[in-house]
Order: sequence, then C-alpha cells, then structure tokens
Amino acid sequence: MGAAMTNPAPHDAAHPVEAHPAEAMPIPGPSDPMVAPRKAPARADGKRPLIGLSKAQLREVLAEVGVPEKQLKMRASQVWHWLYHRGVTEISAMANIAKDTRALLDEHFVVGRPEVVTAQVSSDGTRKWLLRFGDGEEAECVFIPDAWRGTLCVSSQVGCTLNCRFCHTGTMKLVRNLTPAEIVGQVMLARDALGEWPNGTASLPALPDTDDDDDDRPYFPGLANAGSNYTPEGRMLTNIVMMGMGEPLYNFDNVSQALQIVMDGDGLGLSKRRITLSTSGVVPMMERCGKEIGVNLAVSLHAVTKDIRDEIVPINKKYGIEQLLQACADYPGANNARRITFEYVMLKDKNDSDEDARELVRLIRKYKLPAKVNLIPFNPWPGSIYECSSDERIRAFSDIIFKAGISAPVRTPRGRDIMAACGQLKSASEKISRAELDRRAAEKELGWVDPA
Ligand code: SAH
Ligand code: SF4
Repeated sequence: MGAAMTNPAPHDAAHPVEAHPAEAMPIPGPSDPMVAPRKAPARADGKRPLIGLSKAQLREVLAEVGVPEKQLKMRASQVWHWLYHRGVTEISAMANIAKDTRALLDEHFVVGRPEVVTAQVSSDGTRKWLLRFGDGEEAECVFIPDAWRGTLCVSSQVGCTLNCRFCHTGTMKLVRNLTPAEIVGQVMLARDALGEWPNGTASLPALPDTDDDDDDRPYFPGLANAGSNYTPEGRMLTNIVMMGMGEPLYNFDNVSQALQIVMDGDGLGLSKRRITLSTSGVVPMMERCGKEIGVNLAVSLHAVTKDIRDEIVPINKKYGIEQLLQACADYPGANNARRITFEYVMLKDKNDSDEDARELVRLIRKYKLPAKVNLIPFNPWPGSIYECSSDERIRAFSDIIFKAGISAPVRTPRGRDIMAACGQLKSASEKISRAELDRRAAEKELGWVDPA
C-alpha cells in the first residue's frame, strides 16, 4: 500500500500557480490550435441546447425568452427533471409543462443530444460511439462493461493540443473544446443507448412542493408514486472516466460545469467517487480540479526521467516530473482511501526497464503519495512509432512496484478490435489540415469568401 500523504502545502515560488495555462506552448500560425482551441460555434438554426446549463443559467435563459418571473423557478426545476431524470430527447415530451410554454421553449431551444454517426460493439462487449455535434465536429465516447461496473470513457475536446507521441488523439490537427452540453450529452447518450432512463412506470422520488404557486401540489402529480422496480443502482453505467479525447484540464470550466451536473443529485446523480479525471500533467489546474470538482485524479506519468518524458509527453517540458508529483502530493482529497492513479503506458525499450520501475517506486515514496499504478500495454494505431513491451517485461515491471507495496495492475486492453482502447481514439473529423486552416484564415483576412 502507498504511504500516507503529506499535508497539502501552499504553493510557493518553486511551484507557481499560473492563471492561464491555456496560453502555454504557443506555436506560430494564424489558426493556432495549441494556444486556444476553437470554441463551439452556434447552431445553424440559432437554437440553444438545454442540457449542460447550470440551474441558475437555465433560469436565466428561460427569463430571456419570456417565461414569467413568477414561474421561473418551477419551470427550471421541471425542465431539469425531464432532462436528467426522465431523459427526454424532445421538448414536446415534457408533459406537465403547459403547451404554450413548451411551444415557446421549442422556438428557442433543443434538448441537445449529440448525433450518433456510428455505434460499434467489440467482441469483448466494449461499445464505441462516434458522435457529431451541431457544427459537424466529431468526438468518440466508449463504454466498457465489467462484471461489477460499467465505465464510460468521456471526451473533453475534439482532438488534443498536446501531441503525446504514443497517442492517436494527439495526432489530430483540429482541436476545439467541447461545451458542457457536449460533455454531459455523451453521458446522456450512453444512457439512451443502454436503456437506462426510467420508463413511464418508473418510480421517481416523491417531489416536494417547492414551487411558488401555492397549490400544495408536487411538480409531477401522477408520476411521483408510480410503481416500478427501476432503481438507479440497477444501472450498467456506474462510473465515468475523463479519459477519452482531449486534455480535460485544458477545458477546465466546461468540464467542471458538465461534471457538476453529472454529480448533482437532481442531475445525473453519480457520486464523485465514481468519477476519475485523467490529466497529462497540467500542474496549475490540478488544485482547482481537486477543490472545485473533487473527483478522483489519474495522472499520465508514463516516464520517470526528464529525457524520456520530454520525448513522449511533451507537456513535461513545461511542467516537469518533480513539479507534477508535488502537485499530486498537494491534491485536495487524496488519501489512502482515495489514491491517485498513475498511468504508465508500456513502451518497449523506452520506459520499461527494471531501473525505471525502481525509480517510479522511489519517486512515489519521496513524495509520500497515496498511489496506485496502472500499467497500460501500449495500444498501437496506424502509423504509431512504438511497440508494446513484452508480457514478461510488463510482469517484471509490475512485480518490482508490487513488491514495494504499491498496487500495479496491468490493464487488459479493451475494445482493441474497434479501435476503442486507450489512446486509439481519433475521429474521422480530421479532414482539414492545419495548412488549409491557415490558408482559410489568411483568405478571410483578405476579405475573400471562406469556402468552408
Ligand atoms: N489527456 C488525458 C486523458 C486522455 S488519454 C491524459 O493524457 O491523461 C487517457 C490515457 O490513455 C492516458 O493515460 C494516455 O496517456 C493513455 N494513452 C494514450 N495513448 C495510448 C496508447 N496508444 N496506448 C495506451 N495508452 C494510451
Ligand atoms: Fe492528449 Fe492525453 Fe493523448 Fe496526450 S495522451 S495527446 S494529453 S489525449
């Protein structure tokens, strides 16, 4: 077992906190996806998605379109309930909302599920969805069923700016942040596909009369006490990992807002203990992640020397190993019951020696980290330059860590046959090259018509 954690130390001059990590690593060119991933453009029909809004934002947008002040709280609660407890995909299905109000909502909003372009099922039961968003961009999302749980691997960006050399997503040229709606939408889409919304006879918790209409009635008369054996505990989708496409801490605000909805008891109601966020090491955002989101942390370490980590996880040039491990030691909420997971991809003759394993143990001890290590056999993809370490090498590596009292399971690759395994995600949306983007930006500047 890992040693006890040190007391969280305040950041000092040796560990500065940067306000704008997204400004890191500039690369030249008018369309610079490294610095600022593009924002999602508005939908062509001008409608806004209802999912992904916080409760306060929902009240605001309802007020904007003319829902009377007196009704705002009630309407917002009704809409929220239809979205996250009932899983409706159409505003017209929000049965207890007056018809004219539904028509008003329909004029300005959509529920906002992503479109499913393809749905694949692996021979091991893993499912992968290629999703398309309002502007045509695409991202992937993977469901991995196990005996005791079902884990949804959620994307935070289209592509990734960080270019880790063993990761397929990092080779995508186009990058944009996913919106809160698009992140929550993945979870809702998976519930749709797995049939995990209550049906018409589902039992819902009794709803208190917290609206302002003085009628003593709950919001959902007729639904509140309908009998059924539906229970949230019976669901297949039990865990979420932010380990799909993208670096979640480079899209902090949207990921945070989405996860607040996922964790909200009135929202999707998943415990923060069942959610893990994986980062390649965006050190300045780690403390906020622990404080404001409070989910489990996984860190993509992958190497124990500066040379090798610089090569395979280039963000290491900005935030080095020692700085990263100190941020792990300071991570709010980490302790022996909630350990930090270190992900370590096994690359033949690159990072897989006995010496590397011993150095990993030394570092974990040095920072007194409550840690476990996940050894991930490298998943190849077309054009990848690395090979996976042999089974014997992986076992020897795991043994050294395990004998030091640190758990070091080897991850069984899942969904390899449908390219759904770790690091294999790369949607088909990469059709426009960086050069093409730059050319378009230049043309726009000159006042030419954008051919897109
Ligand atoms: N950007 C985040 C989360 C997404 S990647 C991060 O890097 O942590 C999820 C995990 O898959 C990371 O640990 C990543 O390093 C690992 N990974 C990427 N490419 C891989 C590959 N080809 N084989 C095995 N693991 C890979
Ligand atoms: Fe991005 Fe993570 Fe892939 Fe690195 S491993 S390129 S951070 S998605």
